[in-house]
Amino acid sequence: MSKVWNFSAGPAALPREVLEQAQRELLDWNGSGMSVMEQSHRGKRFIALAAEAEADLRGLMAVPDDYAVLFMQGGATQHFAQIPMNLAGPDDRADYVVTGHWGEKAVREAMPYVTVNIAATGAGDDFRSLPSRETWRLDPRAAYVHYTPNETIHGVEFTDVPEVGEVPLVADMSSNILSAPLDVSRFGLIYAGAQKNIGPSGLVVVIVRRDLLARPGRPMAKILRYAEHAAQDSMLNTPNTWGWYLAGLTFKWLKARGGVAEMAEQNRAKAGLLYQAIDGSGGFYANPIDPAARSRMNVPFTLHDSALDAEFLKESEAAGLIALKGHKAVGGMRASLYNAVPLEAVRALVSFMSDFADRHG
Ligand code: PMP
Repeated sequence: MSKVWNFSAGPAALPREVLEQAQRELLDWNGSGMSVMEQSHRGKRFIALAAEAEADLRGLMAVPDDYAVLFMQGGATQHFAQIPMNLAGPDDRADYVVTGHWGEKAVREAMPYVTVNIAATGAGDDFRSLPSRETWRLDPRAAYVHYTPNETIHGVEFTDVPEVGEVPLVADMSSNILSAPLDVSRFGLIYAGAQKNIGPSGLVVVIVRRDLLARPGRPMAKILRYAEHAAQDSMLNTPNTWGWYLAGLTFKWLKARGGVAEMAEQNRAKAGLLYQAIDGSGGFYANPIDPAARSRMNVPFTLHDSALDAEFLKESEAAGLIALKGHKAVGGMRASLYNAVPLEAVRALVSFMSDFADRHG
């Protein structure tokens, strides 16, 4: 069987044990004689699976009882629009802190539904650092403050949850959810597309403080309203049952490996190893991000001579190191080091990088 190390930004590597279990259970899930994809979402078996996945996620993230956990669809992008529809009235304003590509996109999708105030932006230095909290121009009457704790393309990550007072804090955690312990009570709403640290694409996890569900928002179809999804345990319509199942397996996998505290240790070690290799390469490789803002999940880097990029990609792929091409917005390379990417993969990558630099330096 061919084995590669997958550094894709998303859809990303899934835990091998999860895939093996899904394979074992594919034709006969839970003694039902059929696959999980063929079960009614209203059936006893699937309802039990759904509840268990939610309970496991609540346990992993220590989600307080006054928060609803929703298993939704539409990708994180749809929620860029759904968040203002649900949390802001037609005359409301919302603060956005923009620290990269995804924050910019969240702003664009929100604009038809709320008056956006850009409270801070890292655009001035091409998103290589985070605007310090003292410079944010927050509106105490904003409906919410939105930010992106980890920017998947630019490779900047907040190490702390920013203090924003009484205004609900909304976070797009698509690329760093479950990567470290988190105090959920600091947030009004957390959302994440599944395809990095949770499971396959097509599933979005939304964790929302219940009092915010009572906000009238604006007139909209029921299907867009978070309160309706919460009232129906995310079964307002047919959910992504396969995604929910795989997310549940991933939560079990995380629990068996010591949960988010252990992931935080491993993620720190993995990112540390790669940044050390980049910084210690004598300038052959470079990461342009302010060291205080470097992402543990997504590590963009360039080669000192971009004429070597194609050769680097060709040789790395031949060595079984997959999906290292950087996003076109920043160029160069990018290695994504989500929970399912083991330290062994990063060791293989830094060893390849060192060897490549020796041969082409
Ligand atoms: N936010 C972040 C931080 C992301 O990394 C991505 C996808 N890479 C998105 C939003 C968009 O997610 P989706 O494609 O699921 O809509």
